[in-house]
Amino acid sequence: METFHLLIDGVAQAGEAGDFAVLNPATGDAFARCPAGSLEQLDDAVRAARAAFAAWSLSSASTRRTCLNLAADDIEREAADIARLIVQEQGKPLALAMSEVMGAVAWTRYNAELKIPVELIEETPQQRVELHRKPLGVVASITPWNWPFMIAVWHIIPALRAGNCVVSKPSSLTPLSTLRLVQILDRHLPPGVINIVTGEKGLGSAITTHPDIDKIVFTGSTPTGQSVMRGAASNLKRLTLELGGNDAAIVLPGTSVEAVVDDIFNAAFLNMGQTCAALKRLYVHESQYQAFTQALAERAGREVIGDGLQPEVSFGPVQNAEQLALVSELVEDARRAGATILCGGERLAGNGYFYPPTIVADVSDGQRLVDEEQFGPVLPVIAYHDVEDALKRANRSSMGLGGSVWGTDVVKAQALAARLQSGVAWVNCHAQIQPNTPFGGCKMSGFGVEFGLDGLLEYTGQQLLFVRKAQST
Ligand code: NAD
Repeated sequence: METFHLLIDGVAQAGEAGDFAVLNPATGDAFARCPAGSLEQLDDAVRAARAAFAAWSLSSASTRRTCLNLAADDIEREAADIARLIVQEQGKPLALAMSEVMGAVAWTRYNAELKIPVELIEETPQQRVELHRKPLGVVASITPWNWPFMIAVWHIIPALRAGNCVVSKPSSLTPLSTLRLVQILDRHLPPGVINIVTGEKGLGSAITTHPDIDKIVFTGSTPTGQSVMRGAASNLKRLTLELGGNDAAIVLPGTSVEAVVDDIFNAAFLNMGQTCAALKRLYVHESQYQAFTQALAERAGREVIGDGLQPEVSFGPVQNAEQLALVSELVEDARRAGATILCGGERLAGNGYFYPPTIVADVSDGQRLVDEEQFGPVLPVIAYHDVEDALKRANRSSMGLGGSVWGTDVVKAQALAARLQSGVAWVNCHAQIQPNTPFGGCKMSGFGVEFGLDGLLEYTGQQLLFVRKAQST
């Protein structure tokens, strides 16, 4: 078994609290052990980051750009190995893991090249007023288990680019690819600029109340995000919270089933549905309900389910037993309430956490499968009679991450999409993200954005420089 280490102040270390097993969700068996860091090691990591900040915050844009581009080169060179590790710890098929790694390369290069502007607000003979952006200090990154490598990159790279030093704390279910990422970054950065502490329990909450952390970027569930926010109040940490979603999609009457069924299926089942901005509730006009549900069930039947390391596999397991139990429970709840399970609907026999793509018809708002985030391979399809009513139901959720409208009349679809209560509104697509397009939720899906210049600036604070040019006599 490969040995993994924490990285604190540029030094690889064993975990003072021992180690713990990392399971492969395709088999349910342990395939690696991960170091368990102690709270003292977390303190050491924060101290190292604070010490390194003095010089890193003053480093030039071109130094930071060079370091990050060198790291991107290494990630690209080692992509095949990293992708295999992601499959083993997370479960997704190898091709998808490869796209996760290459996406991380693209995000790294994009952020490396971004320029942090100085805004000239006023220039007169008497005074000059400029708005500057300064790094915040020590940034802690707390990441979930669904896209472990990519989300760590989304957090860490802009934080470093803006001149901060980072302590990373990945999910204990998928810590290994992030340990590998940090190892790569450390090759190109001064000691202490990037640090990582892994552990099973307690580190996350210790981060939230730590007095010497300036910002937390957190991606995870809404209840944990609320807890992060409570803890962060202790020293008024800056926060970016990317939380849960229950994205609705509305298909307008007259949409060609054939033209959109594949895109809708892929948006709902991306990463086995374990994607924050996956399409999680599909509203279809009653005139096309039968045709859509059937086409989706047929599409689901084409997936090849199995261990993601097998080349023919297109659909992997759910990442962990707890999530599998939640998915099963939500489907059973819908079944009891009279829903029709058009395909799937049962865990597959065996030790892996396999649950086939499941299309559920004859469900409605007010049922758990529609109202709660399923975060797994199940799509409820809800019939509507009136477009305004569908919009109302889409907006009824306390979440507001993404949403979409599908239709042949793009102008009409766009007008409806603009009325969705969501941080991102897509037309004729869903879950499309790019390094240059700011992404983030509203309502209880969180606040702050990632990606683009806006995302980079989240890792800075403002300083207004107000210069009176001449002293009055
Ligand atoms: P989670 O909230 O259970 O865990 C996320 C991280 O928080 C993990 O690293 C975990 O160890 C840590 N953590 C646990 N308790 C903590 C505490 N008290 N204080 C601080 N940190 C703590 O989420 P998950 O199950 O890993 O991920 C799934 C959820 O993440 C879903 O709700 C999904 O929608 C959401 N998500 C959101 C986005 C987004 O961009 N909005 C992206 C991916 C996932």
